[in-house]
Amino acid sequence: MAGVKSLFVPGPTNMPESVRRAIDVPMEDHRAPDLPDFILPLFADLKKVFKTEIGQVFIFPASGTGGWEAAITNTLNAGDKVLAARFGQFSHLWINLCERLGLDVQVVECEWGTGVPADIFGKILKDDTDHKIKAVLATQNETATGVQSDIAALRVAMDDAAHPALLYVDGVSSIGSVDFRMDDWGVDLAVSGSQKGFMLPAGLAIMAASQKALKASRSATLHRCYFDFKDMVATNASGYFPYTPPMTLLRGLRASLDVMLEEGLDNIFARHNFLAEGVRRAVDAWGLELCAKGPEWYSDTVTAILVPEGNDANDVIKQAYSRYGLSLGAGLSVVAGKVFRIGHLGDLNELMLMSALAGAEMSMRDVGIDIKAGSGVAAAEEFYRNNAPKLAIAAE
Ligand SMILES: *Cc1c(COP(=O)(O)O)cnc(C)c1O
Repeated sequence: MAGVKSLFVPGPTNMPESVRRAIDVPMEDHRAPDLPDFILPLFADLKKVFKTEIGQVFIFPASGTGGWEAAITNTLNAGDKVLAARFGQFSHLWINLCERLGLDVQVVECEWGTGVPADIFGKILKDDTDHKIKAVLATQNETATGVQSDIAALRVAMDDAAHPALLYVDGVSSIGSVDFRMDDWGVDLAVSGSQKGFMLPAGLAIMAASQKALKASRSATLHRCYFDFKDMVATNASGYFPYTPPMTLLRGLRASLDVMLEEGLDNIFARHNFLAEGVRRAVDAWGLELCAKGPEWYSDTVTAILVPEGNDANDVIKQAYSRYGLSLGAGLSVVAGKVFRIGHLGDLNELMLMSALAGAEMSMRDVGIDIKAGSGVAAAEEFYRNNAPKLAIAAE
């Protein structure tokens, strides 16, 4: 197929040219005397993205899943009770990882299309008077259903219950794209990955731990070796790693942090909200429903769209890819065949997204879904023409 392929899965995301070029470099000495001049500022700038001054950031060669494992194994003990909610494939997989690591997971089952139930968590924590629950897990953005949860509200619920559990947040598809505040929200372990908001290839688990989490890590007994914070803390302090770091990805991370800090986090968040709103207008004009059950759950990084009953969302995805070179996200597990997803995070603007909307619209019509030609595209077009990104949260 001539021309570019269009990548609109919610990770990996599109890479800025400067990032792509930064990765295309000769191999270099990861123990060079001047390496710390490069590495230490990376850590400092990552702290800005996580919004932490008191926490410590970690970069593990792994995907986001490795970040989950590092967070859990460094801070908990076999049999520890943790509280989590299941409302999509990623929250499910995190629960599954905890169970396989030998934790006692108290799972709150929630409808797919909703998110972290801060009120229910608050009640459970209040009732847990002898503080059996050691950790609360929250998926800030459930990538499978396009649901964003309110982590600040969860923090309030935990504080109201005066519960000392550690707060773990999966921010793989949200950190660096939507508002996230490690210190303000009292997040103890924040997990992200390189291939989403950081606009890099997969391969880095990027995470941060609070002082409380680091303290827990000094006595936690779950087995770990490769992911041990201790070895990282010891070597990172002088600007090195305990084993060979993926230098090309770190060069890319330098470039992506430069891009992010130049645009400014608040501007990035506003842009993601603006782009997402255009997608939602298109879905509405198509006469279709979102998987997310209400505006309080809308994700600004990915939209999951329900196809009308009797249709298979996988047909839309196949048609989009084979006929138009457009990659859309598939429905996973419970929502397989029922939804397709448009990822709208990372290095993205209105016209790029318009191509995805046009491709989704054409593909749906090709497979027999009754949609008015140009309806979604027109709605998004009108929204983008008449509005601008709003710095909604900048003033706080
Ligand atoms: C992508 C993603 C992950 C991690 O996936 P990897 O493939 O291991 O990088 C975890 N949680 C969420 C919410 C994600 O979107």
